[in-house]
Amino acid sequence: MATITERVKEIKDDIEKHSIYPEKVKLVAVTKYPIVDKPKLEELMTNGIFDFGENRVQVLEAKRELLEEKKNDINWNFIGNLQKNKVKYIIDYVHMIHSINRMSLAEEVDKRARGAGKIVDVLIEINLSGEESKEGYNEQEFYKELPKLMKLENIKIKGLMTMAPNVDDEEKIRASFRKLKEIKDDLNEKYFKGTLSELSMGMSHDYKIALEEGATIIRVGSKLYS
Ligand SMILES: *Cc1c(COP(=O)(O)O)cnc(C)c1O
Repeated sequence: MATITERVKEIKDDIEKHSIYPEKVKLVAVTKYPIVDKPKLEELMTNGIFDFGENRVQVLEAKRELLEEKKNDINWNFIGNLQKNKVKYIIDYVHMIHSINRMSLAEEVDKRARGAGKIVDVLIEINLSGEESKEGYNEQEFYKELPKLMKLENIKIKGLMTMAPNVDDEEKIRASFRKLKEIKDDLNEKYFKGTLSELSMGMSHDYKIALEEGATIIRVGSKLYS
């Protein structure tokens, strides 16, 4: 078993080796697992990791409390399916919501952000795998709703997020990451004037492929703790 320190170094080396633009890449440490206790959170910070990812509001809040006075040093990234009635709990401090996957959620985040007097950075989650079990817009549905999404003034769309299909076939995984980048480039040209900068894609088992295909944010959990 490797330490977190060794794993962080390994992942940073992989970013240098595999990314097409290593200077743009951020590692979000996914902390959602019960094994991630206070010492592990502190070891991440000791290694210069201040971007944490959580997929459930209650767990996020519990982790945040564990850090006490250091909780505001962390960029909390919300990466899971977000229930509308939970948005209000995280709106004041959340750094980025990676998983805007339906209009009603976008509207709720926008409304709560306005109430909090802020503009929240978000990513739109796209489901390119076709797997029913995965959240996210399908491509056509997303293009259809985009004009409405772009009218929401208190969310700032910074890019796209996806989860690769659950398959062993590396080419299928690569194709879905490549497709996400193509959509981002198309959106930049047609609607966003180059302001979409982020591609959140790649997890423990597939982040190297994602880096080769242009990820700017990789979300790595289990590899850090094994
Ligand atoms: C759990 C999770 C991750 C991290 O997965 P690992 O396989 O543990 O690296 C990344 N993204 C999302 C949305 C997750 O839910």
